[in-house]
Amino acid sequence: MLTFDNLEIAQGDFRLTANFAVQPGGIIAVMGPSGAGKSTLLNAVAGFTPVTGGHIAWGQTDLGPLSPQSRPIAMLFQDQNLFPHLTAFENAALALTPRRRLTTDQQAQVNAALARVDLAGFEGRKPGALSGGQQSRVALARVMLQGKPLVLLDEPFAALGPALKAEMLDLVAEITHSSGATVMMVSHDPADARRIADQVVLVADGVAHEPAPTAKLLDNPPPSLRDYLGDSVMRKT
Ligand code: ADP
Ligand code: MG
Repeated sequence: MLTFDNLEIAQGDFRLTANFAVQPGGIIAVMGPSGAGKSTLLNAVAGFTPVTGGHIAWGQTDLGPLSPQSRPIAMLFQDQNLFPHLTAFENAALALTPRRRLTTDQQAQVNAALARVDLAGFEGRKPGALSGGQQSRVALARVMLQGKPLVLLDEPFAALGPALKAEMLDLVAEITHSSGATVMMVSHDPADARRIADQVVLVADGVAHEPAPTAKLLDNPPPSLRDYLGDSVMRKT
């Protein structure tokens, strides 16, 4: 369970609070207006943004004292952080070791992860020789290989077209359900949430609200969500 215990993050004029728990083993969409603090919330969980009050805990472990590297977390951003001079295999392998030499077992793990995201045969290509969708799949393979129980996705597929994005979302759902990981995924598209998220955390007016069931929230959105989504909230896919 991921617990936000009277969390407060203050940065200049900006203030965000959160006081709720996320049950393990599901996909939570994080939605809300631009600048509301969605990235800030995820960055605080990952340890990149300092917390000014309260605590974030994973199970019984207070994450506060832990460096980003030692948290039980894998994070994926929109720019996906692939190294242009490394192959798909090498980029994915960084999840296991910073060294260029892998054990036979590690090589097999990397190959299996790339095959899982449908990139068998593309191991030797550098990002520049891969499509946007293929680059996303390399990044997702790297996240899978990290084997962390908590996965944070900050609009990683926003640059993809609708068909590729849907394919990536389904892959995230499939991987999540088989690994049992807990996923928090920032998205501005209610269709993304409807597609794979069990629940939605609404971030608005300085508060990250407790998770609400996706369909219930989107079918009958509170004013802050309705203002931000406009007509798109009516679209069901
Ligand atoms: P969202 O992801 O919901 O669009 P962000 O979390 O990026 O919003 O930003 C929330 C607020 O925090 C914004 O007002 C933004 O300008 C501010 N902010 C983000 N990062 C920093 C920072 N490093 N220092 C100060 N303010 C920041
Ligand atoms: Mg953001």
